[in-house]
Amino acid sequence: MSDAINADLHCHSLVSDGTLAPAVLARRARDNGVQLWALTDHDELGGLAEAAQACAEIGLDFVTGVEVSVSVDDQTVHVVGLGVDPSHEGLRTQLRAMSEGRDARAHRIAEALREHTGVEDAYAGASRLAGNPALISRTHFARHLVERGVCSNTGEVFSRFLTPGKPGYVEHAWATLEQALGWIQDAGGLAVLAHPGRYRFTPQRERELLTRFVDLGGTGIEVVTGSHSAADWRKYAALAGEFGLRASRGSDFHCPRESRCDLGRLPALPQGLRPIWDLLH
Ligand code: AMP
Ligand code: MN
Ligand code: MN
Ligand code: MN
Repeated sequence: MSDAINADLHCHSLVSDGTLAPAVLARRARDNGVQLWALTDHDELGGLAEAAQACAEIGLDFVTGVEVSVSVDDQTVHVVGLGVDPSHEGLRTQLRAMSEGRDARAHRIAEALREHTGVEDAYAGASRLAGNPALISRTHFARHLVERGVCSNTGEVFSRFLTPGKPGYVEHAWATLEQALGWIQDAGGLAVLAHPGRYRFTPQRERELLTRFVDLGGTGIEVVTGSHSAADWRKYAALAGEFGLRASRGSDFHCPRESRCDLGRLPALPQGLRPIWDLLH
């Protein structure tokens, strides 16, 4: 397959912190010209059957996916697994355990937000906004605080309350990098380092992360994503080449009102990269 196809290999449905149903996303992807599409909900496989069914009906090439939350040093890093088997018992068991930790974290976030914003019902509010009771994310808290008039948009909630160092931020131990890559590979998937431009590593730490990622069998890196600047595309194109990683492309679309980048509305990969989708068919 050529590197010119419109592949969008990263987005979210209401099974995690997106707002649209998997089948609605599939049609939106098709309408936006996407030719190869993956649904990659956070730590969840629950939307993949509906997405696959919708894609079969509309004739859109579909890749299963998941975006696993990982702790590296004191940061959260996301690893996308593409082509995972959604029925794989090991992966399902591990993600179920992660959702228990996430729920405990949600109660702690709600308590911190009660103290710092006066909003008393943040857990119930976030839970009501979550399409999936097993996955309450910071995004749901952000939407609830906007509904309550604490902030005017979700970006403001993140910057005032929900990012590291802010009063509603709760430290959490997600999967280790070794675990995430092991689970993805055991389930038959390819691991892709998501939106590397969003992390706050020193250049040396970033190179150490890429070295470990490759040593653990990681296959790809997102070069073109909704949260990367043009400078990021160039930087991660060069690092993909240097580390022998396949290049991926994904909007990270969540919600029509909130997301800067819609499904499939991304520039092409820079020239000279080996696209990950050559391995997905
Ligand atoms: P969680 O997995 O609950 O920690 O939530 C992480 C999600 O929050 C990410 O996948 C993004 O969708 C969203 N997010 C993280 N940081 C920001 C930010 N600064 N502004 C808006 N959304 C953010
Ligand atoms: Mn998200
Ligand atoms: Mn992410
Ligand atoms: Mn994402």
